[in-house]
Amino acid sequence: TEQTEKFEFKAEINQLLDILVHSLYTNREIFLRELVSNASDALDKMRFETNRDPALDDEIEPQISISYNEEAKSITVADTGIGMTKDEVMANIGTIAHSGSAEFIKQAADTNESLDSLIGRFGVGFYSAYMVSDKVVVRTKSFKKDAPAIQWISDGKTNYELTVLDEELPHGTTIEIFLKEDMVKRFGSEDTLKGIVSKHSNFVSFPIMIGGERVNTVTALWREPKFQIKPEQYEEFYKFLTYDPQAPISTLHFSVDAPVQFNSLLFVPEKDLDIFGMDRDNWGIDLYVRRVLIERQNKNLLPEYLSFIKGVVDTEDLPLNISRETLQDNLLIGKIRSTMTKQVLSQLEKTAKDDPETYAKFWKAHAKIFKAGHQDFLNKDKYANLLRFDSSKSDGEALVSFDDYIERVKEGQKEIYYAFVASREAANLNPHLEIFRNKNIEVLYLYEPIDEFVMESLREHKEFTLVSAEYADLEKLDKFESAKKEHEATPLSEEQSKDMDALAAKMKEVLGEQVAEVKISERLSDSPCRLISPNGAMTSSMEKIMKVMNK
Ligand code: ADP
Ligand code: MG
Repeated sequence: TEQTEKFEFKAEINQLLDILVHSLYTNREIFLRELVSNASDALDKMRFETNRDPALDDEIEPQISISYNEEAKSITVADTGIGMTKDEVMANIGTIAHSGSAEFIKQAADTNESLDSLIGRFGVGFYSAYMVSDKVVVRTKSFKKDAPAIQWISDGKTNYELTVLDEELPHGTTIEIFLKEDMVKRFGSEDTLKGIVSKHSNFVSFPIMIGGERVNTVTALWREPKFQIKPEQYEEFYKFLTYDPQAPISTLHFSVDAPVQFNSLLFVPEKDLDIFGMDRDNWGIDLYVRRVLIERQNKNLLPEYLSFIKGVVDTEDLPLNISRETLQDNLLIGKIRSTMTKQVLSQLEKTAKDDPETYAKFWKAHAKIFKAGHQDFLNKDKYANLLRFDSSKSDGEALVSFDDYIERVKEGQKEIYYAFVASREAANLNPHLEIFRNKNIEVLYLYEPIDEFVMESLREHKEFTLVSAEYADLEKLDKFESAKKEHEATPLSEEQSKDMDALAAKMKEVLGEQVAEVKISERLSDSPCRLISPNGAMTSSMEKIMKVMNK
């Protein structure tokens, strides 16, 4: 009564398969990492279901087993996880591509780099089996009681075959991949497979068995005492977690007992790992309860402005059967979040102080995201201390903090001046900044629209008011000496004054509604004029932003 149906792959999947099969750069052994990672996900999901509904517990050991069949030249990866129904097989590994696939294809086409890390990050792992195989057989049985076992077979070219099996199978998935002739030598031995697993999958939290032996050795590194962990282990774990081939620039491992117990292991990547255009959905901290994974990429454990942080949190204080929905406004999660936020900001402050070079790397990679923290009023000071700017007193390379600025202020100066400019060159020609140049008063240069919001939210730092140079109360600057005395305007004679008034009136007449007023200024020395908006109005850059938004 078994029936086999044939289905075509979506065009996108065809393209994907083509890239994977023909990629020259990719380290082909990572196909095993991907299959093991899927097996581990399936086991996590099974454990999650069993925690919620103990009646589902059938006492099948959660486990991944890998074997090599000499005769068939096939590698089998079997798990006792959640399995898939027919619909799920079709949705997950058949017709419908993940949102990540299209992006992956685009990226893969543009990059000369190895695809190893792209494959893991874009959720196209299953298909990597076709880098070493030209026939894959999946047999799977969902944990759902009435779902029949399903078999999926494909040569990874244009179509796949789906059969509803009569056979009774325990829940879980078995994936058998038949090696291509030229891959047999490279991957056709259990010893080789052991090596690959311990290299790429050492931190998987379920036993991985090969030839009756457990291969992966470390679980829940974050629960180990710090002094027992070697730096290489942190690095290995980071790479396992993120697929980032580079080491992190900072590692933060700590445990807290009150007001809530948790262990956390967090990393700051050297690059923005979402640079591949995945917008900002691909972030969050993996949440464990007593070593059991509850949710990957939980977005409530850190504020979004710290979303460049990767890592895990494990707490004793939540119930294992907590649902993902109730996690959102859970009080304990809120407490973990505020503690972690403070810890991360303090660590960054420490890096900024002790290791400015590393901090500069951090700033280069993550400033864009980080700046959104101007809304975190609870951590306003720490946040402000971490900001960096280009400035009229910097060489254009080194960045300036508020503290650097404060150290250099003139005696009696109570303001930190900033200006929104297009570039350093433009700043040098900006008539609003002329007086600051003349009086040798430092001005912070802002280049991005968000900087404006940052300054608007902060308003002050330590005893200093943040002031847009364009709107500065120029009388406050009178007390500071000018370098270019000779250029300062001599008082106008009565006649000159009349001429100037006439000129201003004429200009107003010509410009009409385009300007509110034309005023004579005695403060400009090099520039013939400057444009300002009427008192109290928004800065010109804010105006630009509003214009764009109103369009
Ligand atoms: P990702 O793991 O990022 O989702 P993959 O291509 O590796 O992408 O896997 C695609 C999907 O196929 C998975 O999300 C999962 O739904 C399903 N899948 C793959 N392997 C298994 C497995 N061993 N058990 C259950 N489901 C699986
Ligand atoms: Mg996967």
